Formats: sequence, C-alpha cells, structure tokens
Amino acid sequence: AKAMGANHACIFQPEMLQRLQEKKAFEADLQVAMQNNEMEVYYQPQVMADTGEICGYEALLRWTHPVRGMVSPAEFIPVAERIGMIVTLGEWVLRQACMEAASWTKPLTIAVNLSPVQFRHIDLISSVEAVLKETGLDPHRLELEITESVLLDDNQHTLELLQALKRLGIKITMDDFGTGYSSLANMSAFPYDKIKIDRSFISQLVGRADIQAIVGFIIGVGRTLGMVTIAEGVETEEQYAQLKLLGCDQLQGFLLGCPAPASQLQALHGDSSVH
Ligand code: C2E
Ligand code: CA
Ligand code: CA
Ligand code: CA
Repeated sequence: AKAMGANHACIFQPEMLQRLQEKKAFEADLQVAMQNNEMEVYYQPQVMADTGEICGYEALLRWTHPVRGMVSPAEFIPVAERIGMIVTLGEWVLRQACMEAASWTKPLTIAVNLSPVQFRHIDLISSVEAVLKETGLDPHRLELEITESVLLDDNQHTLELLQALKRLGIKITMDDFGTGYSSLANMSAFPYDKIKIDRSFISQLVGRADIQAIVGFIIGVGRTLGMVTIAEGVETEEQYAQLKLLGCDQLQGFLLGCPAPASQLQALHGDSSVH
C-alpha cells in the first residue's frame, strides 16, 4: 500500500500541483485587475419589440488581462464569487453603470447583474442606496437582474430583501427565465417587474411549435402578472418576427446590438463635438 501511495503521488502530484498553481495565479491576477484598470463595463441595448427603439442597456463586465487577453465573465465571475471579490467588483460595476446612465441625455433604463453572493451580502441594501445617492440616478431607471439560484435557500428572507430593494424604487428582473427548477412558482411568489426569457429558448424558437408554445405561455403569464417580458440572445430577423408575433415586449441580442464600451454610446452623450 505504501508503494502504491508513493507511486500514486509520483504520477499525479505534479499535475495537481500545476493546476493548483494555475488556479492561484488566476485568482491573484483577478485580485489586482480592478486596481490595474483592467476591468471595463460594456453596454448592450434592449429594444422595444414593436418600434425597435432602444429603451435601455444591460451592463456587462469585461476583463482584459495584459497576457491572458479578454477573459470571459463566464470564467472569472464564478472565481470572483468563490474568493469573495464579487461583492467589491459588483458594487464597482453598479457604480460605473449608474454613473454612466445618469450622464445620458435620455432617461433609458440600466440593467445590472447581481450575483447571488452579492444578494446574500449583509450590506446589499445600504450599498445600492449609497450608489443611487452618489450618482443621482433616478432609482426607477435601475433594474437589477437576478437568477433563480438567488431564491433557492430562504424564501422569507429573500422576499423581504426583494421588497426592501423595491422600496428603493428600483426594478427587479428575473434573468435566464425558464432554465431553473421552479421558474413558474417563483413568478407568483416574488414581485418581479420583468422576466428575461433565456437564450436557450430563443435559439430554438424558429420552426419549433413546441418552443413557440412555451415562450408564448411565458409571455402570457408575464402579462397577466403585470411583468414586462424581454427575450435575450436574439440573433436573427426570424427570431425577431416570431417574438413580436408572440407579444414579447422587449428584445436583446446581437441582431439589435452587441455589448460596447460607454464611449461608443455616442447618441446618449450630449457632447456633439465627437461628430
Ligand atoms: P447574462 O446575464 O445572461 O448575459 C448575457 C450574455 O449573453 C452576455 O455574455 C452577452 O454578451 C451575451 N449575448 C448577448 N446577446 C447575445 C446573442 O445574441 N447571442 C449570444 N450567443 N450571446 C449573446 P457575457 O457578457 O459574456 O456574460 C456572461 C455572463 O456573465 C452573464 O450572462 C452574467 O451571468 C455574467 N456577468 C457578466 N457581467 C456581469 C456582472 O457585472 N456581474 C455579474 N454578477 N455577472 C456578470
Ligand atoms: Ca443578465
Ligand atoms: Ca441572461
Ligand atoms: Ca442566459
């Protein structure tokens, strides 16, 4: 057994050690990314389905590391959550996004993603309140996007938190709707203002009567409950037409506009000297 153990250690340890070192290096890079100005907030438009007019933007975080290049949020957000950094990072995104939106010449909405870790953090309400006060953004223009995973543990506490957020005047969106275990139950249990139908439905929508029925059903329930519906991941004209037909209120996706840095949202900045 001893020999096997030694053998085992000899074969697997270097690999495991290397992986651990990579993980630590990634975490260390992430830890200093904010102070090194490697983080930037991008903005993706949300449009009204009937007119095609832009009604708001979603803030999406971007990390460009000098050696790693652009790192996907799908890769670094979970790490930031694990090492607890998401609280600081998330508040930074919220402040940037609110500051940016407050500077626009039109009162469009700004949607900001809220990690479940931020949601559970003790200072959430006071931190959102502070950012609103600091930036002077009208709270009615702010939408916080949360996923169903936020709602899994303690329902009474979650409900109280959501209500406290809504008392600030901000709106709550349920992101990635339809992918979780209890989407429909959550729809009636929590005071959402908006539901975002997950991209997995939108990508299968065209030519699939079953998916169309499901999406139509979600939109119908949303309307009955007084919630705005938005579809994410709209990439084609066919999807756009189908969603319009089904009565979806708003659309977001590469067809309508890709995430872009604040400097590219020219029409929203009063200074016309850029032209
Ligand atoms: P999400 O909140 O579901 O954001 C939508 C993702 O879909 C974004 O990816 C966006 O760039 C991408 N997308 C938009 N339109 C299309 C389309 O037409 N087709 C396809 N295939 N994709 C589209 P991104 O920016 O890479 O973000 C990935 C995820 O990372 C987000 O998913 C969100 O969960 C998380 N994330 C991004 N920024 C933040 C943040 O500031 N805070 C937190 N907590 N999470 C964030
Ligand atoms: Ca989102
Ligand atoms: Ca989403
Ligand atoms: Ca999604």
